Amino acid sequence: MAANRFDIIVIGGGPAGVTAALRARELGASVALVEAGRLGGTCTNDGCVPTRVIAKAARLLRDTRQFADYGLEGEPPRLNFARLMANVQSTVYQMHEKKQLIHHLRSSGAEIFAESGPASFVDPHTITLGDGRRLEGDKFILCAGGRSRRLAFPGADLALTHADLWSLQSLPASVAIVGGAATGCQLASILSIFGARVHILELSPRLLRIEDEAVSSVIMDSFTRQGIDVITSIQGVEKLERGGAAGLTLTYGKDGQPRHLDVAAVILSSGWLGYLDPLNLPAAGVASERNYVVVDDYLRSSAEHIFAAGDINGKMMLVQSGAVEGRIAAENAVLGVGQPVDHSLVPHGGFTDPEYGSVGLAEYQAREAGLDYTVATVSYQDLDRAVIDNHTTGLCKLIVSTETHRILGAHIVGEQALESIHLVAGAMAAQMWVEQLADLQIAYPTFTAIVGLAARRIVHKLGAMPMAAEWVSLDRPSAEWEHSSL
Ligand SMILES: Cc1cc2nc3c(=O)[nH]c(=O)nc-3n(C[C@H](O)[C@H](O)[C@H](O)COP(=O)(O)OP(=O)(O)OC[C@H]3O[C@@H](n4cnc5c(N)ncnc54)[C@H](O)[C@@H]3O)c2cc1C
Repeated sequence: MAANRFDIIVIGGGPAGVTAALRARELGASVALVEAGRLGGTCTNDGCVPTRVIAKAARLLRDTRQFADYGLEGEPPRLNFARLMANVQSTVYQMHEKKQLIHHLRSSGAEIFAESGPASFVDPHTITLGDGRRLEGDKFILCAGGRSRRLAFPGADLALTHADLWSLQSLPASVAIVGGAATGCQLASILSIFGARVHILELSPRLLRIEDEAVSSVIMDSFTRQGIDVITSIQGVEKLERGGAAGLTLTYGKDGQPRHLDVAAVILSSGWLGYLDPLNLPAAGVASERNYVVVDDYLRSSAEHIFAAGDINGKMMLVQSGAVEGRIAAENAVLGVGQPVDHSLVPHGGFTDPEYGSVGLAEYQAREAGLDYTVATVSYQDLDRAVIDNHTTGLCKLIVSTETHRILGAHIVGEQALESIHLVAGAMAAQMWVEQLADLQIAYPTFTAIVGLAARRIVHKLGAMPMAAEWVSLDRPSAEWEHSSL
């Protein structure tokens, strides 16, 4: 094999690319991984890790409001925004030190071309790197991730994206966040707890519109109670101009009228597109649609020897899914196409306050699919641990097939929701019946116990447990340790 020719060339060193490169090496292929900038991708450098650091600061700050109730006295701490941003950078650094991705990949035998500038196809088997080097590959796995969508309204260049946050030195006093999906909601929640006056604008009638309605409803109520200005059903942003009392004036349409917001900053969080431009995909015969690489169920693009995994194909856009896709793309590329990707069971959520976690079908999806199902919803007010910790906002909603008694989906909003949802994901992966989930001994007093309460409600509803008639008519919710089905 020529020095610069490889069995597999992976483009992009985020979760999908790193996983793909390692798996392809495990299978014996010669592998080059090409990364325009720093390894780790959006996840480590710019997305999940930095967001989780500021979410942690927001949680700590929120909990200072409980100090007095739990007998803790003294001045509540104040946010030093610049110091927090320094901690973001230092945590990203620690993450790089911990993962040692270059070392790990090199010791697997992969050749790494990091900080090489963006790669572009010259022809279907050749790429040039930003620094001018040329590499040839039999097969390619595109893992170049995504970029924030920049809406094209006049003055859009005055707006920030999440990526600009990490270099701000002070908290803007007021912020309009355009886009009420996962990232927009997390930023709205965090910046509001920090003390900014936050407005969140969303085209659809509800925030988090792909989630179950129950999740959106709790989040919207909580945001409103916390003082976030939730503006849904807008007809689009019209323009952004310098001026006004706070420095910027955002004009958007609602109910057929132009509306104005005076704010210090505008953050666009209105979509995430595949990062296609530098790749010059037409030179390789790779088709794209709506700014994502088009792939089949085997993650193969329109060019037979080129696969695409992670955000760039627009399928799931989550770290855990990108990593799974990276593995499957590598296996299909090296061993021959045979393994489809399946995203029916992906636990996910967001670090809003309250946080949320979901897995499987939302109720509207079960309804649209014409499934026979039943639902139980348990409030955090019925959960002992929530009362102990005084975090009683939230609920757990479980959706179960009336036909098979298997779990179709679960949605938890409230403290530790994103951790608790994994119990349901495990139960779904093991294809447990709801009766088995209801019978599980869950440590007391935990937030996760809400899953047991919901499962037992469903067992009661399904009449799947022998019970005296007078008991059936009771509707008092049981406590965790009662282990009855009410
Ligand atoms: C603010 C924010 C918060 C998020 N929080 C979460 C979360 O909590 N949980 C979660 O699961 N997901 C989260 N995500 C999504 C998550 O970051 C992505 O789904 C994940 O990083 C996708 O992995 P990837 O490997 O496909 O792409 P990326 O991680 O984006 O990696 C792509 C890499 O390719 C490189 N590259 C691009 N073009 C080229 C080129 N032409 N040549 C060479 N290299 C190139 C880039 O420099 C980058 O390093 C978040 C995203 C954002 C923006």
